[in-house]
Formats: sequence, structure tokens, C-alpha cells
Amino acid sequence: MASVSQKPISDIDKENDSNRENSQLLYSLILIFLIPVAIIVNTFWGISKIQKNMENELQKKAVLAADVFAGAGADSLTSEAALQLKIDEIIKLNSDLREVTVLKPLEDGFEVMASSNEESVGLIFKSLQYTTSWVEGKDITAISESDSKPSDRYFVIIAPLKNTTGEKVALLNMKSSLAGADRAMTKTMNQTLILLGITIFFVLILLFNHFRFYEYAMLLKRLKEVDKMKDDFISMVSHELKTPMAAIKGYMDMIFEGVAGNIDQKAKVHLEKISANVKRLDALIDAFLDISRLEQGRMQFDMQAIDISKVIAAISSELKIQADEKKLKITYEPMPDPHSIIFADQDRLAQMFDNVIGNAIKYTQKGSINIFHRIENGNLKTIIQDTGIGMSKQDMKGLFTKFYRIKNEKTADIAGTGLGLWITKEIITKMNGEIYAESQENIGSAFTISFPIMKESKES
Ligand code: ADP
Repeated sequence: MASVSQKPISDIDKENDSNRENSQLLYSLILIFLIPVAIIVNTFWGISKIQKNMENELQKKAVLAADVFAGAGADSLTSEAALQLKIDEIIKLNSDLREVTVLKPLEDGFEVMASSNEESVGLIFKSLQYTTSWVEGKDITAISESDSKPSDRYFVIIAPLKNTTGEKVALLNMKSSLAGADRAMTKTMNQTLILLGITIFFVLILLFNHFRFYEYAMLLKRLKEVDKMKDDFISMVSHELKTPMAAIKGYMDMIFEGVAGNIDQKAKVHLEKISANVKRLDALIDAFLDISRLEQGRMQFDMQAIDISKVIAAISSELKIQADEKKLKITYEPMPDPHSIIFADQDRLAQMFDNVIGNAIKYTQKGSINIFHRIENGNLKTIIQDTGIGMSKQDMKGLFTKFYRIKNEKTADIAGTGLGLWITKEIITKMNGEIYAESQENIGSAFTISFPIMKESKES
């Protein structure tokens, strides 16, 4: 039987991703090429249109000048001197007119009767255009270039001239210069080309930026993927570590209980050290699990009406052992209104108070930890105040961020992960509360945790 090879799904995903990247790259390159080309084509098309329109208008003007001459010169057609006067007059009035010549037909050609170029008077010319215009009795217009200077362009209008009785008697050859229009056009063209260059320059900058933004977007996508991989890895490792850790803790407890026989004092001291380190490791794994649950939105909150004072009293008495070891006094002032109830998850509330009160004990060498409440604007505030090492304003800037620990000689020997306050803040925020800190170096710190009061009973 023939076997069908199948690609793993991750390979197909990668292939799709690289196809998408390639087509995106191609699309960007096409844009970089097409947009400037489109702008250039559009500009030149516009310019040639303007030039055509301008030439049409000038042609109309030249034909009009020829018609005016034909009408005004009809009665002078018999006298060459009168004709020359008319030509001189019309040349003076119209600066665009380069040459005006009136020719009379001969057997085999046309003789110049009068002309703005007086030297040509009496010369005989043979031209197909002259003959056509004469025979067919129609105007011929064309654009022509000067032989000596090709950039010098002009309109040539050849038209039959009629006398007052409507009889064809002569031929008009009029040259109207396009130099003025060409000069204006060249100026416009130069300005347009400068503008075009600037526009293309900015468009290319924009397109290259688009290209760079696209690269950033791809980088961000990759970073998110790597970040997710890291989260998945931490979550998997933490879960896998939890089981052997539970077994180690169980056996440690059994040894302490004497199940494995009596242990001498020296061994007990060592075992206690092992136990303390196992607890730290266990707390670290719990922190990692909490982080991945919070980041992936998997942490469950069983929200219910809670009397916060009961939670604090329980945590304070648990932590009293640690405080006693450091000879610190923990005091808890009763609630101003014992009926202030908040809406929260009891275990998560206990977890975050454990962290904040635990920190107060951890970062206080002597003095006391005082816990009390304030009711402000419908919020129940719990303040955990210590007389510990405190924090400088600068050091407090990174507080509540992941893995943040203040490093100085006072904290050098205090163990920690820098995860507690980040987890605490996340949990409080998820339960619609707030946390903030105030502190003074060497004087102490106060952490305020605030929750909206759910029910404020005024009775009693
Ligand atoms: P950890 O205590 O494990 O280092 P946390 O996130 O709980 O991590 O706290 C972050 C940092 O904030 C601590 O390393 C410490 O420098 C500072 N800190 C927290 N609570 C206090 C406090 N009550 N007094 C002084 N510094 C504190």
C-alpha cells in the first residue's frame, strides 16, 4: 500500500506564515515601484494635456488674426503699398506674429506682393501647401519649427484672400510664434518636475516607513509568540514540579512526626533547613503558577460578600510567629464600622494580605506593624503600616512590576523573588480593588489596599 506523507500542523503553519510574509514583501515592493511610476505618468499626462489645450487656444488666436487681416485687408489687395502698410500695422499690434506675407498666384508659383520681411517682396515660391490652399480655397494650419533653431516653433496659417466681391485674389501666409507659450510651458514644466521630485521623495520615505512598520509588526508578532512559549513553558514546568514537591513535603512531615524513627538533634537542625528551603521552592512554584494563571486569564475568583476583618485576623495570627521571632509587634485596630462588607474571593484576599503583611514583617528589623482601616468615599481601605527599612522615591518607581526587587545593603540578605507585589496588585485589580504604597527610607512603609464597600449597615 502506498503511504501518504503528511506534514505536521506546525510545519504547515510556518509555511503559511512564510507565504504570507513573502506576499506582504512583494506587495510592499510593488507599492514602492508602482506609486512613484503612477505619479510620474500622471504628471506627464497632465502636462501634455495642458500643452495641447494651450496650442489649440493659440491656434484659434492665430486663425482669428488671419481672419481679421483677411477682412481688413480685402480693400487693399489691389495696391501693394497699401497692403504693406496693413501688414506693418498688424505686425505692430500683434507681438506673436513672426511674419505676414501676401502672395499673388502666377502660372507656376506664388509671388510675394507684400511682406513683413520686405526682402522677400518679388520672390516667387512654389509650395504644395500654397497650391492646395489656393485650389481648394481653404485655410491650412500647421506647427512648424525654425530651421536654424528647432526650439523656436510657430503656427503657419495659409489662407486664400478674397476681394470685396468675394473673388480669390491672393494668398496669405502668416507665421505666429509659439515662443511665449513654449517659455511659459518650460517654466511650468521645470516647477512641476521639482514638485514631482519632492513628492516622490516623500512618497518613498513614507513607503519605506511602511516597510519598516511592517517589519516591526512582524517582530512584535514573533515576540508575542516567544512570550507565549515562555508562559507555556513556565506553566508546564511549574505543574510538573508540583507533584514531586508535594511528595518531598509529605515525607518531610512524616520524618518530623517520627514515622521513620527517632531523629537526633543534629539531623533535626539539618532537616529544618531542608524544610525551610523546600517551602521557599514551593512558594516560588506557586508564584509561577499564579503568574501563568493571571497572564492567561485562567485564575478563578469565587466572589462573595466578605468580612475583611476576619481574614486579616486569621492572617495576622498566622504571621505572628514570624513577627515574634523578630520581636516585632503586630497590632490590628478594629474596623470603624464592623458592618462594612466587601465583595471578593476569600482565598485570594488571604493570599494578598499574607504577602503584604508578610513583606511588612520581612522588611522591618525592629518596631511594629500596625494594621487599621479607613472608610473613604464608599471604599474600605486597609492600611498596613510598618516601621521598617522603607523605600526611596526612586526605588518605589518599579514597585508592583514583575521580578522587581530593591537592591541595596539593607535588602541584600533578605530572600525574595520580586513577584509577590505584582501578583498582589493583579489579584486586587481583578477583584475591583486598588493598592498603593507610601514610604520613607529608614522610617517605614504604608501599603493601602482599597475595596468598594458592598453593604454599609448603619444599624447597631
Ligand atoms: P519580594 O519581597 O519577594 O522581593 P515583592 O514583590 O513582594 O517581592 O516586593 C518587591 C520589593 O518591594 C521587595 O524586594 C522590597 O524591596 C520592596 N518592598 C515590598 N514591601 C516592602 C516593605 N513593607 N518595606 C520595604 N520594602 C518593601
